Amino acid sequence: MKITANNPERKSWLEVAENSDFPIQNIPFGVFLTKEDITTIGTRIGDYAIDLGALHQLGYFEGIPLTEDMFMQDSLNDFISDGRKTWRLVRNRIADIFDVNNKALQNNTKHKEVVIFEMDEVEMLLPVEIGDYTDFYSSKEHATNVGMMFRDPENALLPNWLHIPVGYHGRASSVVVSGTDIYRPKGQTIPADSKTPIFGASKLLDFELEMAFITTDVNHLGETISIDEAEDYIFGMVVFNDWSARDIQKWEYVPLGPFLGKNFASTVSPWIVTMDALEPFRTKSPKQNPQPLPYLQQKGKHAFDIHLQAAIQPEGEEETVVTNSNFKYMYWTMNQQLVHHTINGCNVRSGDLMGSGTISGPTPDSYGSMLELSWRGSKPVKLNDGSERKFINDNDTVIMRAYCQNDKIRIGFGECKGKILPTK
Ligand code: MN
Repeated sequence: MKITANNPERKSWLEVAENSDFPIQNIPFGVFLTKEDITTIGTRIGDYAIDLGALHQLGYFEGIPLTEDMFMQDSLNDFISDGRKTWRLVRNRIADIFDVNNKALQNNTKHKEVVIFEMDEVEMLLPVEIGDYTDFYSSKEHATNVGMMFRDPENALLPNWLHIPVGYHGRASSVVVSGTDIYRPKGQTIPADSKTPIFGASKLLDFELEMAFITTDVNHLGETISIDEAEDYIFGMVVFNDWSARDIQKWEYVPLGPFLGKNFASTVSPWIVTMDALEPFRTKSPKQNPQPLPYLQQKGKHAFDIHLQAAIQPEGEEETVVTNSNFKYMYWTMNQQLVHHTINGCNVRSGDLMGSGTISGPTPDSYGSMLELSWRGSKPVKLNDGSERKFINDNDTVIMRAYCQNDKIRIGFGECKGKILPTK
């Protein structure tokens, strides 16, 4: 089925600012609360939030097999379960409804009143009920930097890294939507040159610049999928800040890996941009050497050219962009991550969230964490207000952004934002 929603020539009758992340070619999916306190599934064009529940009730999705309450829910899980064909039909229809040449809704003031809201009138909620959250470690530059800092510069990558998309199971309960304040975590840390730990607020609080993908139902327990079908199971992507307390992490992570240094919070951007919308930005992923085992081998273009950025905004000051990276630097693709995740028969379900791992580029101004940007605190990062940061201070807001751009369109993700409050 053709993705007619992607037509770059299409214009909407809704006003869209020139540099908007949300032209009519984007049509992301999210969940929001209206000022009447109604939770609904929606999409966004320009700075307008569109109530898909209301559109459906008014008959605008006629001919598409959808349950009556499909969009009147507080999560996208059921819609995502319906599969790629339905996502495509709905996105194509939305593009048609808001096309400048379509007068049906455009000329219906009554309908417009219940369907269209201004973005600042609505409150964005978590778009999916996340059953399980997995975080990978798939940027070679990031894994190399961390290996150099904490282990052996000569053997920065562990022997398994080039063969396995390394990952761990994170915690879904503390994944929050952009705009949610985060309390600085407390915990055990080990002072330098000490053998006994102390307890207190984390002193080395960090962000991790990541993207995450959201799956539909992939496999039943015990079943596996092939690399060629993996893409059919990926609904879309969000910007993802996997907050990390480096000092807590350092003391606890041997032998079972990350735990309380990671699971106090992770922030997602509210709009899920579909893989269909990202299609024009497909590109080649880095060459893999050595060649992975056959179940992970794939041909063609499976990376996406997505510009990434992180900024720090101290209280009452302007923000400073501290890094610019790109999703295409990822050594392991999302397809490889998903196939690997299910190769042992582990079942992945609708609404599961898979983090990429910190995405660092090849140059020091493209590193995806303060750990790397300040090289473990040895090179403080200068902010526009004259202050310096090795890690994140109380009352700092971290803002992440992601967008794709070619000579015809820009498809963006909006912001993934979180403020650090003093420990509770
Ligand atoms: Mn992470």
